[in-house]
Amino acid sequence: MAKGEKATFNYDLCMACGPCVTACPFGCIELSKTGLDRYRTAFPILVKVEACTGCGLCARACPIDCIDLVADPN
Ligand code: SF4
Ligand code: SF4
Repeated sequence: MAKGEKATFNYDLCMACGPCVTACPFGCIELSKTGLDRYRTAFPILVKVEACTGCGLCARACPIDCIDLVADPN
């Protein structure tokens, strides 16, 4: 974890199971039903980018390790 990092999702691996959503203490992540295709039921998205502290709790909660913390370009 470093200052300015934000959670990003590897959508090639993500199975939309949801532990990342409940792990975030700031409610930054939601499962979105938009942009679906026949392989997926939902996508996690960072709905509160500014509130994400880069704490990494979501990444630790993900059972398949498909969340990375990357430097926020903004
Ligand atoms: S916990 Fe991981 S696999 Fe599950 S929805 Fe979140 S990012 Fe996707
Ligand atoms: S890194 Fe922390 S603050 Fe950011 S989405 Fe994950 S759990 Fe929430």
